[in-house]
Amino acid sequence: MVIICFSDANCAISNAMSSCPVGMFLEIKILKTACLRLLDIDYTLFDHRSTAENPIELIRPYLHEFLIDAYSEYDIMIWSETGMKCVELKMGQLGILDNVNYKITALLDHLAMITVQSENQSYGKKTFDCKPLGVIWNQFPEYYKETNTIMFDDLRRYFVMNPKNGLVIKPYKRTHSNRSTDQELVKLTQYLLTIAELEDFSNLDHSAWKSLAEENAKRRRGRQFKAVHTVEV
Ligand SMILES: [Mg+2]
Repeated sequence: MVIICFSDANCAISNAMSSCPVGMFLEIKILKTACLRLLDIDYTLFDHRSTAENPIELIRPYLHEFLIDAYSEYDIMIWSETGMKCVELKMGQLGILDNVNYKITALLDHLAMITVQSENQSYGKKTFDCKPLGVIWNQFPEYYKETNTIMFDDLRRYFVMNPKNGLVIKPYKRTHSNRSTDQELVKLTQYLLTIAELEDFSNLDHSAWKSLAEENAKRRRGRQFKAVHTVEV
């Protein structure tokens, strides 16, 4: 990992690409729109802090349904701040790598991350790691770019290099209390399928994702009601 200031970012991304493997590419599935979706693991896909006899019990509700629906429109990559062995182990235990209903395009680990230093008038200098999308865009410019990429994480700081492409998801914690009520991935599926129709994501404000997803779900329910009503008449 390299420590850089924001002004050196492009140079550091090039260095990260040339000096270390970006990740493990499992499959490249080229879609009409070639949308790319990057997912974080810990607290996004599962609760890595709670304990359970079987790791399956720690999975976020609706995870596989979410991946199946999204796979119809998006390429999916998983990016974690841990090492590749750990990423593979977790994904294997959760049944994500061998699912017959969807495929993962790539796994990325901490080697594809960079460390940045920001300076804020109130808090002074702060150093932290982030996930620069330029690592992927530079490697596959014909498929993935700013206009067709969306990235989810429970930590906003990971998007610092590409804030317009990031969507902050509520962390999934205390699985034993929250398993029956967590609906985050259901809403996120609605949002993803809604925006998949757009050719360009760069004008979207992902911070308003929940209201757009709810509006769209209401509209769909309205259409279904109208259809049923028409049949009954
Ligand atoms: Mg996380």
